[in-house]
Amino acid sequence: MRLVIGTRGSRLALVQTHWIKDQIQSLYPDWEIEIKKIKTSGDKDRTRAISQLGGKEIFVKEIEDQLLTRQIDLAVHSMKDLPADLPPGRCLAFVPKRADARDILIMRDVDRLEDLPARPRIGTGSMRRAYQFQALVPEAEIVPIRGNIETRIRKMEEEDLDGVLLASAGVDRLGLQPPHQVRLSLDQMVSSPGQGILGVEMREGDKDLYQALRPLNDPGVEVQARLERQFLKAVGGSCTLPVGAYGELKGDQVHFQAILGQAGQKEVKKVVVSGKPEEDLGLRAAAQLQALWKEEEKEGAKGKVYLVGAGPGDPGLITQKGVDLISQADVIVYDRLANPNLLIHRKPGADLVNVGKLPHVHWVPQDEIEKILVREARAGKLVVRLKGGDPYVFGRGGEEGESLHAQGVPFEVVPGISSSIGGLAYAGIPITYREEARSFHVITGHRKNEESLNYSYLAHLEGTLVFLMGFANLQAICQGLVEAGKDPKTPAALVMWAATPRQRMVKGDLSNLYDKAHAAGLSSPALICIGEVVNHQDHLDFTSLKEDLPFIGKNFLLFRQAGRSEEVLEKLEALGGNAYALPTIQPVFHPSLDLDYAINHIDEVDWIFLTSANGVDYFMSAFLDRRDIRDLAHCRFLVVGSKTRQALASYGLRADLMPKNFIGTEAASLLAQTIQAEAKENKSDKQALVLAPRSSLAPKSTMEPLKEVAKVKDLDLYDLEIPSGTQDLVRGVVQDLDAYYMIFSSSSTFRNLRRVLGEEFDQVMAKATVATIGPTTSKAIRQAGYPVDIQADKYTIDGVIEKIKESLE
Ligand code: SAH
Repeated sequence: MRLVIGTRGSRLALVQTHWIKDQIQSLYPDWEIEIKKIKTSGDKDRTRAISQLGGKEIFVKEIEDQLLTRQIDLAVHSMKDLPADLPPGRCLAFVPKRADARDILIMRDVDRLEDLPARPRIGTGSMRRAYQFQALVPEAEIVPIRGNIETRIRKMEEEDLDGVLLASAGVDRLGLQPPHQVRLSLDQMVSSPGQGILGVEMREGDKDLYQALRPLNDPGVEVQARLERQFLKAVGGSCTLPVGAYGELKGDQVHFQAILGQAGQKEVKKVVVSGKPEEDLGLRAAAQLQALWKEEEKEGAKGKVYLVGAGPGDPGLITQKGVDLISQADVIVYDRLANPNLLIHRKPGADLVNVGKLPHVHWVPQDEIEKILVREARAGKLVVRLKGGDPYVFGRGGEEGESLHAQGVPFEVVPGISSSIGGLAYAGIPITYREEARSFHVITGHRKNEESLNYSYLAHLEGTLVFLMGFANLQAICQGLVEAGKDPKTPAALVMWAATPRQRMVKGDLSNLYDKAHAAGLSSPALICIGEVVNHQDHLDFTSLKEDLPFIGKNFLLFRQAGRSEEVLEKLEALGGNAYALPTIQPVFHPSLDLDYAINHIDEVDWIFLTSANGVDYFMSAFLDRRDIRDLAHCRFLVVGSKTRQALASYGLRADLMPKNFIGTEAASLLAQTIQAEAKENKSDKQALVLAPRSSLAPKSTMEPLKEVAKVKDLDLYDLEIPSGTQDLVRGVVQDLDAYYMIFSSSSTFRNLRRVLGEEFDQVMAKATVATIGPTTSKAIRQAGYPVDIQADKYTIDGVIEKIKESLE
């Protein structure tokens, strides 16, 4: 029998593989077993953080491929590197006995925790170890370190640490015998799921080999591996949250301990469950931990629903209270008449629920909407039910409030300007007028079961009549009023999409309004206004002044992140355009040990290298959470781009350096030159320390030129994700429009849009004129097989707007 075992080439991986080989060989001394080293993408790309390369799988993918193509027969992995579900075609051959699962603290001078100095500096790269150790020794200062075991131990000297935290299993396997060490008990420090367990993987079909290797399987460890991995999978297998699990077998019972942290929280919660080995203890522990975190969250925010009026159209016409609530809401339930641009005020991570008319969904039925409100509020969330105009004017807001009341869910109403008043005002029609209209009547033009309106009553009312939801019945309304005795010459107007850039109006009288509206191609949503007040429209209309603007009748879709779109929306609208901000990208803060450390040690930092306004905001808010702005007095700032400079200025800090072109590598070279020149002048050999708080997507290679002259600390400060609810938001907007410009300010906004729309993407692109901010974005779009119609000469949004304007001349 001949076997080839594949493994990563690191020293530890080789030791582990030899150990497995010896196990097999002791059973089958005459088998010929070869060990084959394989380089994985995780090994090749050491400069990037594991989480952003695609998780733990990056260490196993190439090896698994070779297994499938029969270049190797077995693959040895650390169990913690294996995905919780093995991909099809592969299975675990056996789980050998487990090495020491505990974590070990290797110390420089002392042998017991109690003998560590008063404020010990402890190195680790793992949040799980950091947070648990901090609970054990609250005075400890955690210093983030990376690298393999030997490197980390070496760093103890180099970085003047009092100890480093590692996995016992690795230290033992390498045969290291550190003179000063403690093994932390599993009660003190729960280990990583699968720590100390090796996984031997094989092809599913090799039945004979499977049988032959069975004797090497340790059933007890197999149970531990199953439960710990089950837990890991249930909590999302995250690389950025601290996760730990250990199942101990005691007789026929398993004693299962697990810990879980939460983003932004510097502690972990722990549970212990026990049961029979075949029970799903991993799932049970995960559910309990998640419930604990949820409960804590709930204590802060008690569930409540706000019925918020969005105003008649223009997003500026919402109330201050309404905007505040949108920015705090966990869930926003909105429909077609609430201006989508109001949603850019939402906080990152807020859930959006579109209950308006959608191609596949039709109307979400009223009772379903009420159920959603109750469910979300009961889950402890702050829910905003955003409705066009005022929530209690024909919006079924009353029904929603009653259903909440009936179910004991607290709610509040935030009134809005009803379109019946505000929409008409934007069309130049005052709803009352001295002597002419001493009252107004707002009437629904839509009746249940086609039942007719009481025209003889309505026709004899003094004052202005305003019909909402009346477009489909326009003819019947006009006729009904005339037949009931109202003068056919009574002035009348129809206003479509009032108080938005799409506003259009026709005027006439009761006898001809219907024909005029149809001839002009107007449609719903529309206000019908009947009465003498319509005559004042000529003098009170302030919107028609805009008619000669270049973007009248043009629609624009913007995909950049919320907070960066408002200014652009304003510019497009000032030119007469109808623009929507539909962010397909959203920054999500990424807490890390490195960031904590950098803030604690800011006095060692010489330069802060900032490449985005997000980087500025996240860094400054994390910094100011813990320290004072004056602690930055000695730091100098390099910024890339004017937006970044502005963001920094908003904290009262001026940038010291900014490259001419807004390009990262150029900035790095510029800073390198500056640092070099200064070092020469001052004849100092102290290396400058540069802190670079950036997006985890920012290429690490940008910093290469700098690394030659300075020490660079690259922080993965935030990730860029697709905001939830984007698909329905885009769908809802696009289905109402026949044609539009799509403005892409980066290739990721394009890629994300394509990803969220899936099969619908081509339909959406078919109606679009595509405009980009510059060549990089254009290239990405063309490579994906879509045309680019317009590209800015100046690589800014203003540049794009300029180009679109030119194309219309
Ligand atoms: N609560 C809303 C009305 C909801 S009923 C309010 O107070 O305004 C929906 C009807 O309102 C639509 O059919 C239409 O007649 C009217 N409407 C709402 N917003 C409008 C707008 N911007 N332009 C024209 N009509 C509008």
